[in-house]
Amino acid sequence: MREVNTTCAYCGVGCGVSIAPDGKGVHGDASHSANLGRLCQKGERLLDTLPLPSAMRYPRLHGKTTDWDSAIALMAERFSAAIRDHGPGSVALYLSGQLLTEDYFVANKLAKGFWGTANVDTNSRLCMSAAVSAHQRAFGEDLVPGCYQDFEQAELVVLVGSNAAWTHPVLFQRLLRARESRGTKIVVIDPRKTATAAQADWHISLSPGGDLALFSLLLLELSRQGAVDPAYVEAHTQGLDATLASLDAALADTGAAARALGLSLPELQKLVDLYRSNKVVTAFCQGVNQQVSGTDTINAIINCHLLLGQIGKPGCGPFSLTGQPNAMGGREVGALATQLACHLSFGDAERQLLHGFWPGSQLPDAPGLTATELFQAMADGKIKAVWIMATNPMVSLPDRELVQRALQTCPFVVVSDITPDTDTAQLADLLLPALGWSEKSGTVTNSERTISRQRAFRAPKGEARADWQAVCALAQAMGYGGFDYPSAAAIFREHAALSSVVKGAFPEKHFDISPLATLSDEAYEAMAPLRWPVGAQEPRLFADGRFAFKDGRARFVPPAVMPSIPSIKAAPAINERPARLTLEPGNFQLNSGRSRDQWHTRSRTGHVAALCRQEWEPQLYLAPKDMQALALKEGDLVALAMQEQAEQADGVAVKPSELKNVSKAELFLPVKKDDSLKPGHPFVSMHWTGQELGSGVNAVVAAEVDPISRQPAFKGQKVRLSPL
Ligand code: SF4
Repeated sequence: MREVNTTCAYCGVGCGVSIAPDGKGVHGDASHSANLGRLCQKGERLLDTLPLPSAMRYPRLHGKTTDWDSAIALMAERFSAAIRDHGPGSVALYLSGQLLTEDYFVANKLAKGFWGTANVDTNSRLCMSAAVSAHQRAFGEDLVPGCYQDFEQAELVVLVGSNAAWTHPVLFQRLLRARESRGTKIVVIDPRKTATAAQADWHISLSPGGDLALFSLLLLELSRQGAVDPAYVEAHTQGLDATLASLDAALADTGAAARALGLSLPELQKLVDLYRSNKVVTAFCQGVNQQVSGTDTINAIINCHLLLGQIGKPGCGPFSLTGQPNAMGGREVGALATQLACHLSFGDAERQLLHGFWPGSQLPDAPGLTATELFQAMADGKIKAVWIMATNPMVSLPDRELVQRALQTCPFVVVSDITPDTDTAQLADLLLPALGWSEKSGTVTNSERTISRQRAFRAPKGEARADWQAVCALAQAMGYGGFDYPSAAAIFREHAALSSVVKGAFPEKHFDISPLATLSDEAYEAMAPLRWPVGAQEPRLFADGRFAFKDGRARFVPPAVMPSIPSIKAAPAINERPARLTLEPGNFQLNSGRSRDQWHTRSRTGHVAALCRQEWEPQLYLAPKDMQALALKEGDLVALAMQEQAEQADGVAVKPSELKNVSKAELFLPVKKDDSLKPGHPFVSMHWTGQELGSGVNAVVAAEVDPISRQPAFKGQKVRLSPL
């Protein structure tokens, strides 16, 4: 009996963990490049989550136990009938960053290759599709250029919309150690004074949406002050002049723009000086991605790095921090509705290549429905059969009422999960038991492009199956060839072989794992973590200055929508507390995010006492000034609802979705004072579900999306607070 090396299930850092031979001890894998032996609180408690008290072990049809053969036969009948009677666009898959790359690969192959629909999207749409779109616009391919060592080699790390101390703890610890040993400066740009901001050298507290204006101003000022790498810009980029011209027009008065952001001119100058005189990593996360201008904001960040030539070199570059353990793996195999496998687009040449690789396939010629579009189409009766895997959209998508209506309208809803207790599973026709972490085997890719093995170390009970096995069983029952894989290793080899074919046809692409196409089962089993492109000596992409466009040049990208400067009026002074008080519209913008110790909708971590201590009940966090203005004390109950009136608060654009279909949902929450918050910006943890909260916080978040990436804008929802 030996230790089993596997990968933590909880975040995009992708730490290696070693499980003791008896399965009762866990420690960090010292040989894994992500964590070098360290784990955070969630990682250390991984074994406490096992076994899951509510684990599902047998398929269930309308609440009654059934068997796999009957379940698969029913699925084949319903999906085939939908495609025959209503066309391929009437069926869909909705996937998850919890899936392993092998699961993702066959799901994408079935939907896009054989059903002929691109209606296969993933919950990664909710957390990082803005980064995908920004990378494609700037680099020509969805690529994170840097690696974790850059956080240790940088002189300055700027964290934007990221509470890395809680969400990516091991990486943040690496950064703090680098600061101790070599004096790395840390700047945090975030509306909240988070645990991360509290440890920064400088916390810039912007209102949600202010970061697009800030990085646009930064680009202008760097350029005006000559902080440009002219040789780099000349040799490796295009579009700078047009970008500067459009920003110049939008942000002509630097002083006024800076003041509107809450910065003095000397503070703006300080930021300019920090960028021009240091090697800088700018890391960004959901605070940036989950805005209506998320893609533009990331391009504004990338623009600054291109101007300075700070990309593809040690200790610098833009860095997208991914939330889930395998959000990257899903992107690599085309599990987003907007791209095909191996980062291919829907062009004729790309589709022909895939058609040749998968004989008998029929590729769709256009992107499919993204997450919010898919559930809207379901609610409109256009989707006749859907399979949701390892995710809980009733809680994680915006506009819970719409998602509920969608699932109730769709004639056939299949949900695969490790538990039947999620809010989404309650609305399924057919429930399929899936293997969970500790039981399943495959690969995941972390934020720095490192592919790691996730390995089973516990035998599953009952009849739970790997998701790839369930997908292949359905594909075979529907009569499709090419799904008779004997193992996850065989799927991985096909994934690698496809990357080889793609690299041959499109040499400008960087995604390449072709050396792994001939991996034996034994070598796959023993595979150590490795970064792609596999075989490259250089850990960073673009070190040679070549990007993935045909001309090899990166693009400066001006915002599609010019930056507005948000500002929030202070809450009005209120001396008396009426029985039910509603503030003026526009005075509150709600943010949501992770707590330190919980994971997603608590399905795995909610039963571990040690992980519940930090926040043991849902709460509405309020700035002290807001508490005072509302005459509230800690523990008082408040009703929280989507703001009903679409009135314009000073400087804040009205969300179009607020003009129609405003949800009537209300959340009733005890309030807690939080000194880290700006007045007007309450906060609720995202983890609480219908079982604890009556619904998740997203019940009061409108389904508004970034028009470029289609990523929902969870941050900055205008809400109404009514003390009870
Ligand atoms: Fe797991 Fe992320 Fe913690 Fe690493 S940092 S142990 S991957 S939760």
